[in-house]
Amino acid sequence: MHVYVYRKEPSNYVKGLQDGMIDEYNWWQIQHLLGNTKRSRQILNEAVPLRGVLNCFCNQPLTAGNSKGKKNYYWYYKCNSHYTINLSANKLHTQFNEMLDCFSLKPIQLNYLHNKAEQEMEDQLRNRKQMLVQVEKKWKEAIAQVDTLEEKFINNHVGLETYQKWYNTYKSQEAALRNQKEQLQDNNNAKWQLFHTTLPKLGDIKYLYESATLVQKQEFVRRVFNSKLYYLAGVYRTPYLLNLFFHNTLILKEKGLLIIEQPGKKIAKNWECAPGGN
Ligand SMILES: [Zn+2]
Repeated sequence: MHVYVYRKEPSNYVKGLQDGMIDEYNWWQIQHLLGNTKRSRQILNEAVPLRGVLNCFCNQPLTAGNSKGKKNYYWYYKCNSHYTINLSANKLHTQFNEMLDCFSLKPIQLNYLHNKAEQEMEDQLRNRKQMLVQVEKKWKEAIAQVDTLEEKFINNHVGLETYQKWYNTYKSQEAALRNQKEQLQDNNNAKWQLFHTTLPKLGDIKYLYESATLVQKQEFVRRVFNSKLYYLAGVYRTPYLLNLFFHNTLILKEKGLLIIEQPGKKIAKNWECAPGGN
């Protein structure tokens, strides 16, 4: 059974996926980019969506140009510093789409993320409930302290100065605890709902990309590669790749679609070693 393999070998790729979701950082980066519509000062053109977000090997963003054929314009990407560079937009887009296909998560991976999320949600809920009990107890004690103080003041057991001093202290304690209580009562429903609606979309990254607006496409490229994607000798290359997409890096390399440079500690075991890998 598949699950058996995961448990038997808690390898790096599992950690990679967990990191991408459990600490939520990478996960919410994805969420953010799906809805992000940051404006760019660049001239945007559907024909060359990678203009400005794909770099030359010299780190400068590639610009674009076109030449008119018999019927159509033929677009190409070029570098302002390297005049010999002339990259066919058609070819680059085809390769880019193939790369996105490799990013797509398989049902077994989506299932894994789904199960982990459910577990995380349950854990969080349980922890919240336990903490809420404690905080509510302290909060009621703080209210009681204020009441007692007021009673003492009314019965002339404490003077005005003492009353005012302690009243402020107790009141601020009560307010802090009330605030904590309210935060614990918020169950993060909206966040989890967003997770569940977004998760299935990760099963077809190419479709996700193609159905995005031009601005979203560019934001996607920037975030997935941390603005470091470049093209050299017929292959996309990057020193950074979002953790969530680390599952097929070996295949991407073998197919000449993407080379991850200086992988360092971020490298994750390939899914081909796991059930469901291709
Ligand atoms: Zn250049």
